[in-house]
Amino acid sequence: VLQRLMKAEKLEIVSHLAASISHEVRNPLTASRGFMQMLQEDEKEPAKKRYISIAINELDRAKEIIDDYLLFANSAPERNEKMNISEEIHHVTHIMTPLANMNGVAIDFTFDEEVKFFVMGERRKLQQCLINLFKNSIEAMQNGGTLTVKVTKEGGAVIVDIIDTGCGMTQEQINRLGEPYFTTKEKGTGLGTMVSFSIIHYMKGKVSVSSVKGKETCFSLEFPLCE
Ligand code: ADP
Ligand code: MG
Repeated sequence: VLQRLMKAEKLEIVSHLAASISHEVRNPLTASRGFMQMLQEDEKEPAKKRYISIAINELDRAKEIIDDYLLFANSAPERNEKMNISEEIHHVTHIMTPLANMNGVAIDFTFDEEVKFFVMGERRKLQQCLINLFKNSIEAMQNGGTLTVKVTKEGGAVIVDIIDTGCGMTQEQINRLGEPYFTTKEKGTGLGTMVSFSIIHYMKGKVSVSSVKGKETCFSLEFPLCE
């Protein structure tokens, strides 16, 4: 038992460390990208212009990985707290609106302040989980569409349905969801669903996925209701 405890503690330290490092790394990445872009604009020589463009792409890649993995993380440890799930979804829809607009995606979620379903967890983690799933839905709708989010109560559970009218998945793709580095995207990290699923698991929740290739996908999350 003692050894297990120590292992868990170590994991926690490692995860905090990773979080603070990624937070610190994000700023220099952004700064470097800015300067690279200035250089690129002034550069006349095609070969050098190409090198700079490769460097910018690599910086973007590093940022993508941090965003999928630890966007909201920082060195401050978080506490488990009671959260109104609709409020968190509402917040995340705001964060995702620019990406949705870029893809011609409408987000259909009605925030009803009267309806309060509470769940337990760490706020930033839940937000990260939702961001990764919303991002996938939006990215699945390259020619526009609708992202619908519904919150309902079923017995002692809160259900969050995330439905998109995107490219859908085959059964084989569905089976591989959550596997690290599984991606069908040219610039994908294959970390998003892995992170989301582990957060859901950590919150003692469940997730199920249904999809029709070329048509739609629904991620259904279930969390224990906190009275
Ligand atoms: P990434 O987004 O970087 O590819 P993820 O782990 O977030 O990595 O997703 C893994 C893969 O799962 C995606 O590349 C995509 O093929 C598939 N996927 C996830 N969500 C959806 C969705 N809503 N619609 C269609 N495919 C999806
Ligand atoms: Mg993703």
